[in-house]
Amino acid sequence: MKVLVADDDPGSLLLAKAAVERSGHDCVVAADGDEAWALFQAHRPDVVVTDRMMPGMDGMELCRAIRAEEAELYTYIVLLTSQGSRDDVLAGLEAGADDYVTKPLDPFVLQARLLVALRITTLHADLARYRKILSEQARTDPLTGLHNRLKLSEDLEQLHARSSRHGEAYSLAMCDVDNFKSYNDLYGHQAGDLALRSVASALAAQLRKTDGVYRFGGEEFLLLLPGQDAAGAKATMERVFSAVRGLAVPHSGDPAGQLRLSAGISAFCSGHAVDAETLLSEADAALYAAKAAGRNRVVLAG
Ligand code: GH3
Ligand code: MG
Ligand code: MG
Repeated sequence: MKVLVADDDPGSLLLAKAAVERSGHDCVVAADGDEAWALFQAHRPDVVVTDRMMPGMDGMELCRAIRAEEAELYTYIVLLTSQGSRDDVLAGLEAGADDYVTKPLDPFVLQARLLVALRITTLHADLARYRKILSEQARTDPLTGLHNRLKLSEDLEQLHARSSRHGEAYSLAMCDVDNFKSYNDLYGHQAGDLALRSVASALAAQLRKTDGVYRFGGEEFLLLLPGQDAAGAKATMERVFSAVRGLAVPHSGDPAGQLRLSAGISAFCSGHAVDAETLLSEADAALYAAKAAGRNRVVLAG
């Protein structure tokens, strides 16, 4: 672990540093609270051992400042207090300290506290890792590996706010595989799954880095195209259609003999500054129109 020790008493500081290093941890030292805060921000230590009384920023303020940070990883704080000041101990723990050691410092006691600190910081690191994995999992469609609707709603909200603020255009393209029910009926559900994965990869491969592609529902995919007006989105969709044609997935239930798509496009621009929900339903209506007009085509909303 990386341990920061802050104490304005040089003797106590050296003693603490020796105890930290004897426990096999790296130690950074600060001679007062302000230096400790600067070193904390520079080094992001796993543990802070801090004196309660220091010139400038005191131990209590340091605790509060550390806890006010929205840090990804937890910092375990041990407060050094003079013997007998029980109120200090309670106030320190309330300010964010996890533990306390009384002065004069017994190096053995600090070493023992560091064992607990290691256990707790490891636990917090594990939790942060699981949280990240779960958060990604919750936003990913397991079949295609694309982002799902939850991620779409977050990204769309962000894109909409940004585009409104800067007066920039963006487009949505709602895509749906044609005659997919009959594909499942003809080739089986497993083959259907494989086909959906191929279509998903073909879609993703055609997009720019800043574009988004999401599995909207069963065989429906939504493309989020920042900075693109309706004409730009249409050109993107032509590329996507050509990529899906390139997959050449045989489908005897489709008039072309292969798997194809239909798509509906809606665009946000200064002349059409509707909300994101409206834009989604416009793309959906345009998709419906593409189906009604014979499938395998792109229709622009409005
Ligand atoms: P249209 O051309 O009008 O879009 O007709 P369609 O048959 O594609 O549309 P419909 O909504 O009638 O059928 C969609 C089919 O997609 C039905 C459903 O079984 C299939 N489907 C949805 N999700 C999955 C999936 O995850 N895997 C497989 N294999 N099939 C799926
Ligand atoms: Mg379909
Ligand atoms: Mg559908």
